Amino acid sequence: MAEIRIELTKNPKAKPADESNLGFGKIFTDHMFIMDYDTGMGWHDARIVPYGNIELSPAAMCLHYGQEVFEGLKAYRTSDGKIQLFRPQENFKRLNVSNERLVIPEIDVDFAVKALKELVEIEADWVPHTDGASLYIRPYIIAVDPFLGVRPGDKYLFMIILSPSGAYYSSGLNPVSIYVEQNYVRAVKGGMGFTKTGGNYAASLIGQNEAHKQNYSQVLWLDGVERKYIEEVGAMNIFFVIGDEVVTPSLQGSILSGITRKSVIELCNSWGLKVSERRISIDEIAEVYKNGMLKEVFGTGTAAVISPVGHLKWNDMVMEINDNKIGEISQRVYDTLTGIQYGKLEDTHGWITPVC
Ligand SMILES: *Cc1c(COP(=O)(O)O)cnc(C)c1O
Repeated sequence: MAEIRIELTKNPKAKPADESNLGFGKIFTDHMFIMDYDTGMGWHDARIVPYGNIELSPAAMCLHYGQEVFEGLKAYRTSDGKIQLFRPQENFKRLNVSNERLVIPEIDVDFAVKALKELVEIEADWVPHTDGASLYIRPYIIAVDPFLGVRPGDKYLFMIILSPSGAYYSSGLNPVSIYVEQNYVRAVKGGMGFTKTGGNYAASLIGQNEAHKQNYSQVLWLDGVERKYIEEVGAMNIFFVIGDEVVTPSLQGSILSGITRKSVIELCNSWGLKVSERRISIDEIAEVYKNGMLKEVFGTGTAAVISPVGHLKWNDMVMEINDNKIGEISQRVYDTLTGIQYGKLEDTHGWITPVC
C-alpha cells in the first residue's frame, strides 16, 4: 500500500469552545487528505496536508460537466474518550459504485479507510465531546483536467475534509413534515439516482424550495416514470410501518442505497420483525393511512440517523402519522444505532472501526 505523506500545520486553529451551536458543515479542521490521479500513473501522492484552498483551472472539467462524486460519514467519540467510525468500508465501496457510473477511476477501499483513520487520528481533538455531536467526514472526487470537451477526465483529485457538527436533534427527536413532490423528479432508472453525485442534489433544489414555501421541511420524491411509486427523501431513505410490517422502497436504480437504510433492515431482521423491500405507491400509503394501518413513517440517513415523519402531504391530503410523535420502532432503531455509534451498546454486528 502506498505511503501517506504527512505535513502538519504550523498554525492550528482554535477549536470551537461552544459545541452547542456547531451547526452542520460550517467549520473545518486543520488538515485534509488529498491524492492525485493521472491516466497512466493511477492514484498517487497520497498526503495529509494543512486544510486550505486548492488551486483549480477555471476550465477544470468538474466545474463544467459535473464529473464529481462524494460520500458522507461520521467519526464518533465514545464516553470513554475513544474515537470510532461506523461502517466506513461501506462508504468507500459505495464511492466506487458512484465512480463506475460517472466513469471515474476506482479507489482502493482498504487504502481509503486507512487514510481516513490516519486523518481522523491527527484531528482527534476536533471530534466533539457533546452527546449527539460528531465529526462529519466528506470524501469526494473531482475531475480537474483543464479541458472544455465532453469526455471523462484524465486527472482527478480524491480529497477528504472534516467538519465538527452539532447534534442533529438538540431537543429530542421532533417529527418532520414532508411533502410529496408532483412536478419535479429527482432521478430516473438508468440515470444517476443510485450514486452520490452533486448533480442529483442540484436537481432536487427546486423541489426543496417549493416544499419550504409551503412550510414543509423536505420533499418526498416519486418515481420519474409513473409518478406513482415512492422513492426517497432528498438525502434520506424512507421507511413505513404498515400494520406489523416494516416496508421500504426496493433499490431500483434511481434510489440511493443508504448505509443507514441497510443497517435498519439488518436490525429489524435481527429483531424478528417482518421487513419488506418492495415498490410502494403513494396511493397505497394514502389507503393504509385511511384504514388506520399506517403506524410509523421515518427517514434514514447518516446526518439524522432516524428522522420521524409527523406529517405527510400529498395533494390536498395531509396525513398525520402517530399523532405527530415518534413511533416505537423508529425510537428503537434510533436508540440502537446511536447506541452502537457512540459505544454505549455492544457492536454485535461488526459495524464499528476503531480509530484511536
Ligand atoms: C446519502 C444519501 C442518503 C443516505 O445514505 P446514508 O448512507 O444512510 O447516509 C439517502 N439518499 C440520498 C439521495 C443520499 O445522498
